[in-house]
Amino acid sequence: TNREATSLNNIVDAIFPLIQAEALMSDKDVKLELTDIPNLDLDEKEIRQVILNLALNGLEAMSSGGLLTIRTGRDEGDVVLEICDQGPGIPPEMLEKIGTPFVTTKETGTGLGLAVCYSVAARHGARIEVKTGETGTTFLVRFAL
Ligand code: ADP
Ligand code: MG
Repeated sequence: TNREATSLNNIVDAIFPLIQAEALMSDKDVKLELTDIPNLDLDEKEIRQVILNLALNGLEAMSSGGLLTIRTGRDEGDVVLEICDQGPGIPPEMLEKIGTPFVTTKETGTGLGLAVCYSVAARHGARIEVKTGETGTTFLVRFAL
């Protein structure tokens, strides 16, 4: 791996135009809420992929007019990255299986996006938490300092 002290906010900023372009093509919007956080030991390429995978899933879950929010901040001494969508949520039977390679509900999905996210998180000593309900889904990546 190639981990070094890196600004998570800078990685989000760098990938934001790509996510925004993707959102605009399907008439959705993306909002950033970045707050001051300490640098983390990150593999930038891997973390970029995590943000992209989670953001694209969020966008794909929403119908037009939906808003995707990407947030960084602190929680209980950890640094957190949150990707929140306004989609229909993940049903319980699906929630059990997400992150398992090749599990997808999409006609042309690979079912690999979340599997990659979970393994990158594990390599960083980070945890992924999912909060999901009728008004949307939030994927929270929690980095211990
Ligand atoms: P893919 O996007 O190729 O289907 P992923 O591993 O990224 O593969 O996601 C696996 C499955 O998890 C998706 O097919 C979808 O059913 C579900 N999923 C992931 N993210 C969300 C989300 N934000 N809202 C609703 N369902 C989701
Ligand atoms: Mg995906």
